[in-house]
Amino acid sequence: MKTPKSFLQKSEAKAFSADHRRTISFNMGKYDAKVKEGKSQFFDLEKARKLAKNIKWQVMENLPELLLQFEKNFTSRGGQIIWAESAEDALEAIAGIVEKHAAKTVVKSKSMITEEIELNPFLENMGLELLETDLGEYIVQLREEPPYHIVTPAMHLNRTEIAELFHRKFNTAPDATPEEITAFVRRLLRQKFESADIGISGANFLIAETGSVALTENEGNARLATTFPKVHIAIAGIEKVLPKISDLEVFWPLLAAFGTGQQLTVYNSLLSGPRQPDENDGPEAMYVILLDNGRSEILANPEKRQSLYCIRCGSCLNACPVYRTIGGHSYEAPYSGPIGAVIMPMLEGYEKYGHLSGASSLCGACTENCPMNIDLHKMLVYNRRDAVKSGASSAEKMLWKLWKKAMLNRRSMNSPLFLKKLMVNLFFKKAWGPRRDFPDFAAESFNQRWKKGKLS
Ligand code: SF4
Repeated sequence: MKTPKSFLQKSEAKAFSADHRRTISFNMGKYDAKVKEGKSQFFDLEKARKLAKNIKWQVMENLPELLLQFEKNFTSRGGQIIWAESAEDALEAIAGIVEKHAAKTVVKSKSMITEEIELNPFLENMGLELLETDLGEYIVQLREEPPYHIVTPAMHLNRTEIAELFHRKFNTAPDATPEEITAFVRRLLRQKFESADIGISGANFLIAETGSVALTENEGNARLATTFPKVHIAIAGIEKVLPKISDLEVFWPLLAAFGTGQQLTVYNSLLSGPRQPDENDGPEAMYVILLDNGRSEILANPEKRQSLYCIRCGSCLNACPVYRTIGGHSYEAPYSGPIGAVIMPMLEGYEKYGHLSGASSLCGACTENCPMNIDLHKMLVYNRRDAVKSGASSAEKMLWKLWKKAMLNRRSMNSPLFLKKLMVNLFFKKAWGPRRDFPDFAAESFNQRWKKGKLS
């Protein structure tokens, strides 16, 4: 169970770890410099952001029709669609496909939605061999930990730690360079791509007009994972659909610029069904799982619908001073940072994730740096309100009630200093933490000083 307590413990450990701070500052510094370059490709960046936002607005207004159009076009080329209302439905469908094709091995390309449905432990429990094929994902898989960041899963590690990991696991040189490690993983993965029964990917976008899954990546592993095995399963949130193929003209550069500071990601693929009779490669069967898992409820909520515009570029994480301090793992959620704090309570409940919305200074850096202009900091405030309404933060509610009562009561305000200190220490000292000076009370209240004429 995710709790505010474990969130605070993990956050504190990261916030005061000098090593973590050093690695993140270094990696974020590189990102910040690169993103400036990526953004400079736009003749009019603000216009591109507005255009993308308008397209997503249209999508949300017409989502059922667009999804049906995608289904019609994708199935007309032999693809199969599975509508999954929940994570459990998606997992059940995947288990069915695994059994149908008697699969033993699975290669996966990087996909946050598979983290959302907790696919890896599910397949491993079924006895399948599962291999992450994105280098960063593979590194965190070897470390048996979840991705740290939605775009750069191993951002929290430095090159020495990664070299040590490979040395421990595969006896490579303890001081192997990134190039040597990449070459080693490349050789290892090649064999796995060739022998895997199923390839699993997410989908950056779904194109309704052509019935295509659009994938964008830098390593080429998604191409291999989706075309070498006989079966390809793509899992996509229902919000991923775009009306036209030409919409990619704006979405692909925006995602690349805000995600990694590139003009365009290296490999961009459009997969429109399984191998056709006149084609030489591609899977024999291709499935797209359209996952709802709470998204319809977000769609029905006019205050928070915008959060479905997210293209998972990770820019709001990088801009967020809280994320940069406490790191991705403290959130204990597949989606971390501001977007995670916005959507996780809606996807999986306020009881589990309501506390995340409190982890923000509401400075607005997330909103400012979001390519889709999603009003993230406003939604964090709505979430705080809804967390209180849902009763998920009942202890806090009670504390504020007591605080209000005390503040509006003249006698309590004028009570002796030791009593005020005692009460505040009792209720707030722990939350205030041991690392900040606890505020002190004046010896006399304003009212007492006023009466004594001491204010001039
Ligand atoms: S909310 Fe915006 S900035 Fe954050 S990941 Fe999504 S698109 Fe990127």
